[in-house]
Amino acid sequence: MHYFYYKGKGLYCENICLANLVKEFGTPLYVYSRQTLVRHFQALNSAFTEIDHQVCYAVKANSNLAVINTLARFGSGFDIVSEGELRRVILAGGNSQLCVFAGVGKTEAEITFALENNIYSFNVESQPEIERIDKIAGRLGVKAPVAVRVNPNVDAHTHSKITTGTYENKFGIGFGQIPSVYKWASKLKNIHLKGIQMHIGSQLTSVKPFEEAVKKVAPIAIELKNKYNIEFFSIGGGIGIVYNHALVSGKPTWWKKPENKGILTTELYAKRLIPILKQTGLKILLEPGRFIAGNAGVLLTKVEYIKKTGHKNFIIVDAAMNDLIRPAFYDSYHEIVPLVRSSRGPIKADVVGPICESGDYFCKDRVLPKVKPGDYLAIMSTGAYGSVMGSNYNTRPFPPEIMVDGSCYGVVRKRQPVEKIWEFESIPDWE
Ligand SMILES: *Cc1c(COP(=O)(O)O)cnc(C)c1O
Repeated sequence: MHYFYYKGKGLYCENICLANLVKEFGTPLYVYSRQTLVRHFQALNSAFTEIDHQVCYAVKANSNLAVINTLARFGSGFDIVSEGELRRVILAGGNSQLCVFAGVGKTEAEITFALENNIYSFNVESQPEIERIDKIAGRLGVKAPVAVRVNPNVDAHTHSKITTGTYENKFGIGFGQIPSVYKWASKLKNIHLKGIQMHIGSQLTSVKPFEEAVKKVAPIAIELKNKYNIEFFSIGGGIGIVYNHALVSGKPTWWKKPENKGILTTELYAKRLIPILKQTGLKILLEPGRFIAGNAGVLLTKVEYIKKTGHKNFIIVDAAMNDLIRPAFYDSYHEIVPLVRSSRGPIKADVVGPICESGDYFCKDRVLPKVKPGDYLAIMSTGAYGSVMGSNYNTRPFPPEIMVDGSCYGVVRKRQPVEKIWEFESIPDWE
């Protein structure tokens, strides 16, 4: 559930008419709903009240300082994957002691910084990494909290680029090696074996793979608790969201509901997992990213041209794959709706950006209302893995980001001035 909806003809975010934001800030423009972030956080958090747990929002989904700050205020911890993300969490008022540090390639500098800031745990992905952490912790005279990421070899049945829990993936340590790795690590002087972790993939719309993986890992978690007194079991993130009917009300009459692949609710997720998790007696960590931020953001864009080739129609807009790469990278579906609802249309078209790549599109052969140059569109469900994956490709500045909270709104990232793009470049004085 989110707070984007039509009121009259206008598309709103909470109490703010998006057409007004476009007038004030121009396009392309990201808009986030603060109430939606909070609502998603609380839905998941309250679904697990029955057991000792901590939600650690996966910062990589949307690392804007205002997003981190909002979730920190409601008690969220954070799943981070770089020193930069940890610095963001600290800067935004988050608690570093509620941070778990994931990723296969942690550098010495990153490990040092994380230890100096007393993070909750490293989620480690290999034995060489544990050795490195042990060495650095020894140098600093501390014990490093560590959980091994177990690869349960369960297929999440999601897009190949976001499947992480099979032996084809670079992530985690194989299921069968876990006992020997813990035994080996328990002898390292500067390592505190604090937990066990898994994360099988992203955008899962069925509870089954989660259930399968948790069932597989829970007995090992219990064994590790008995042997090494570990405290927590992190079940990762990956809860999928609805992309294909992101806007539930206000359809034009010709609109056909796209096939709905089902929705994974927090209630179902909790109901199926809690009974298994409870038996471990461990504190449970949850690392949702997309579930919290995905439907809390939209990307607004202006129609520049309508190009009809006789073969196809193209709606050429001012946002591009550098602003939102998901359709090109993951073949992802994003609902696209006009900021001002009209009964014109329909037209079958590709919505494309101005970048010189065939991959620069937001949808293909989609039935949309007939728009004209100067109209505005909202690309829905772009709060997660949207702006964070942006680039300056084609020397296009990063778009501004606005956060709405009820009847208020604030700029949470200014539009990047174009000169800033080449700020750190220079031409050597060859002569
Ligand atoms: C990316 C990631 C997450 C968050 O994934 P979502 O699908 O956005 O919930 C959680 N944990 C780890 C280790 C990750 O890499």
